[in-house]
Amino acid sequence: MRIDVVSIFPDYLAPLRLSLLGRAQEDGLLTLTVHDLREFTSDRHRTVDDTPYGGGAGMVMKPEPWALALGRVLAAQTGVSDASVDDGAAGAPAGGARRPVLIVPSPAGQVFTQAMAHELAEEPTLAFACGRYEGIDERVLDWAGEHFDVRPVSLGDYVLNGGEVAVMAMVEAVGRLLPGVVGNPHSLVEESHSDGLLEYPVYTKPASWRGHEVPEVLLSGNHGRIAQWRLEQQLRRTAARRPELLEGADASAYGKAERAVLRELGFEVADGRLRRA
Ligand code: SAM
Repeated sequence: MRIDVVSIFPDYLAPLRLSLLGRAQEDGLLTLTVHDLREFTSDRHRTVDDTPYGGGAGMVMKPEPWALALGRVLAAQTGVSDASVDDGAAGAPAGGARRPVLIVPSPAGQVFTQAMAHELAEEPTLAFACGRYEGIDERVLDWAGEHFDVRPVSLGDYVLNGGEVAVMAMVEAVGRLLPGVVGNPHSLVEESHSDGLLEYPVYTKPASWRGHEVPEVLLSGNHGRIAQWRLEQQLRRTAARRPELLEGADASAYGKAERAVLRELGFEVADGRLRRA
């Protein structure tokens, strides 16, 4: 996969060169390029922001540097020449080809989820436009929509200072799903959110630590009992911490034992789906 990130703080993205994603880049599984938005300004002060039309607090990111930077990204990702993008001549991709995805981090976007991470991991390229100040002039998104599949995406219902932290989270979540990035692909299957539930608690040696014991079942060697215990823990943890994940969930995989636990937790099955009892 090829990923391009545009930011006024390219150094913010440096941690993406570490650990598993760093190795993925060394191994050629991922190409990550970070572009400095200020490189696409033409004035002495390398200005990227201006006052908002209509008044109000803060500054807004100017459209022109963004168009030039995203034109460069589009050229790198698709081969469309910079110049044709600048004057709008490129238009939609020829032959019904899919537009590259451009993610615009925003607290006003669709909330990022594991399902979205899986969907994005299927893309050959991703571009990210990190906003700062009060955000990017809305016309950039309109214009970019002629060339990209533009998706405003939020990390959650809170406000960050800029898009960089959100991009780091999204790139890490997507990057670890790329084939070969995580050594044991099985570890991706049993994680929180992979089956709509939170993950069960995990333990390692020693079996007894400061008066706290590892649950006996995990020492039993009985894989059937362990799997059953883990699923029950998933249900209990999800009901306690994120009950909304259970409401309306598909219950067809749950047998008698799980349904009894769910009843105890205040959920029942109706038409194959879970609802609060
Ligand atoms: N005025 C904007 C609003 O209320 O929607 C918030 C601007 S915020 C201070 C600056 C930038 O941080 C945004 O343009 C966006 O790139 C990023 N950002 C802030 N919160 C975010 C979130 N929850 N998810 C993704 N990006 C976020």
